[in-house]
Amino acid sequence: MRAAKFHGEGRIEIVDAPEPRPGPGEVLVRVAACALCGSDLRPWRRGWPVTSGHEIAGRVDQPGHPRHGERVIVYIPVFCGRCEECSAGRTHLCRESRELVGWQRSGGYAERLTVPERCLLSVPDDVPDRLAPLLLDTIGTTAHGIRLAKRIVEGGRALVLGAGPIGLGAIIVLARMGFGPIDVVDPVAYRSGFATSLGATPVSAEAAAAGRYRLVVEAAGKDAARQVALEAVGPEGAILQLGESDAWALTETRSIRLKDFFLVRSFYFPIGDYEPNLELLRADRDKYQRLVDDAADLDRLGELFASFARGEKLKPLLVPA
Ligand SMILES: [Zn+2]
Ligand SMILES: [Zn+2]
Repeated sequence: MRAAKFHGEGRIEIVDAPEPRPGPGEVLVRVAACALCGSDLRPWRRGWPVTSGHEIAGRVDQPGHPRHGERVIVYIPVFCGRCEECSAGRTHLCRESRELVGWQRSGGYAERLTVPERCLLSVPDDVPDRLAPLLLDTIGTTAHGIRLAKRIVEGGRALVLGAGPIGLGAIIVLARMGFGPIDVVDPVAYRSGFATSLGATPVSAEAAAAGRYRLVVEAAGKDAARQVALEAVGPEGAILQLGESDAWALTETRSIRLKDFFLVRSFYFPIGDYEPNLELLRADRDKYQRLVDDAADLDRLGELFASFARGEKLKPLLVPA
């Protein structure tokens, strides 16, 4: 089977990997599409021991299995289904989980992979393979974070820092969930232009910092953006922190010290959010469709990653076949 090996420093090699064999409770999935994610730039830069790729749509490919042929997407946390968190529906926070698909176990930049059956989410007929991966990070992660934030702030002016796939996904979900007007900060013209087409207004970081927003979504994963978020959040407003990076180094200023605000951090989403998230996809299908702006097969994955890393693509797909 062909799979992508990330050697680091942006070098991707397509190797002949051993055919994956499903263990107990697992099934073989043939990859139809795997969306590139900003978090994959970490393995792309550093190299990674297992096959990356965690926004996977495919088909169960196991003759004789009751789910053979079913169209699925893959929920990445390998949850136990029994612990305190799983029992409360917080499968993404499973106490027993040690593995994420595409991080600690092999993921979707390959022709096939094995997946614990519990992590399969059935894809309805009206959702094509090229849109299905968006139900994971782009919709799942953003909608879960915004639902948490809505416990604190109902609606009102919002600011999105970083107009990558998560930031753009957040703009679509925010508008759908009653927030607005929405401002956005992103230095890349292609991205901020796309945000404008979704109804957001590009502003400078300086203007944003003075904004006093009800909700600030930090989707850039950079300290500069976190600093702006801390300045920009209004009294009793909330910051939703979704961006990832290795270390934080922030400066407490007077305007941050003399303020009441809430900080919400969230990771992925509970598996039970899937049905309402399908409705979010259906409600804004045209917008989500435009996010998927390129596709390549395994032989062109290296090129696709390079242009993704340069910020030229939003949510491109690997389509192995
Ligand atoms: Zn991701
Ligand atoms: Zn659990």
